[in-house]
Amino acid sequence: MSLVVVGSVAYDGVETPHGKVDRMLGGAATYISLAASYFVPAKIVAVVGDDFAQEDFDLLASRHVDLEGLDRVPGGRTFFWQGVYSADMNDRATLRTDLNVFAGFNPTLPESYRQEPYLFLGNIQPSLQKSVRAQMPGLKLTGGDTMNYWIQDFRAQLLETIREWDFLLINDSEAGLLSGERNLRRAAAAILEMGPHTLVIKRGEYGAILFRRGMHFVAPGYLLESLIDPTGAGDSFAGGFVGYLAGRGIGAPLADADVAELRRAVIYGSVMGSFCCEKFGVDRFRTLRRDDIDARYQEFANCTTF
Ligand code: AMP
Repeated sequence: MSLVVVGSVAYDGVETPHGKVDRMLGGAATYISLAASYFVPAKIVAVVGDDFAQEDFDLLASRHVDLEGLDRVPGGRTFFWQGVYSADMNDRATLRTDLNVFAGFNPTLPESYRQEPYLFLGNIQPSLQKSVRAQMPGLKLTGGDTMNYWIQDFRAQLLETIREWDFLLINDSEAGLLSGERNLRRAAAAILEMGPHTLVIKRGEYGAILFRRGMHFVAPGYLLESLIDPTGAGDSFAGGFVGYLAGRGIGAPLADADVAELRRAVIYGSVMGSFCCEKFGVDRFRTLRRDDIDARYQEFANCTTF
């Protein structure tokens, strides 16, 4: 059983107070599949140009990410994103977005992906997210994320899309925008009326909150000793969250025991997001081992039990 991951595979230029990298592997689908690959086999659906480097294919392949659905457009250039972080790294400004081959992205899934039970829809146009889901008739669990642009300018399309999802992952400002509520509890209640039965609101360094009707679970942010580059933290959270659930075979509808698994999934998401921030880009994933992940998971348990 595998997890299908849809989204951007990119080159990023990133500047943080710790340094500047002009061009490195990035993209939401890259981070999501790398993080998920520690828990379950991941299959990527994305598009790159023929400037996409062999060493970047090799990194994904080294984590056993299936690349049959990674379309390579001859003569095309890979999506490029450039951002700069504030001094405390809680904010970032986008300096440049070159869609390149991503502008024509209209994913058709390889036959070998269509029967898979798990799907995570990274941040792309909601109608594309919907069309991918429609190509997978045997889904046990579907979720995804989105961003302010789609919430503001493609609202009707987005609402139609997330209506079919089991879970939605978004950050606190997006939750406010989507629900029209500043209060997180009321925002969550409103979003849970839009379709997904499970919602995770990410709060950056302050952690994440899992909401279902009548319950919520609060996970703190991991206290990192050194935060180098937060790019991809949200996507790595997503990969850890859905990867853990897929690896455990959890599917909708969720029984009470599965709700305990959702809490663990939030912690694994937090663990993966925190590792991602320790080095630039995807670099931490080059050396990260499953043992490191489980040790940090245990540390989370130790520092939150009372
Ligand atoms: P995160 O820090 O988790 O929000 O993810 C950052 C990643 O998202 C970077 O690697 C970018 O390449 C990618 N990204 C940035 N803007 C977009 C966009 N408009 N659509 C898809 N992916 C994007």
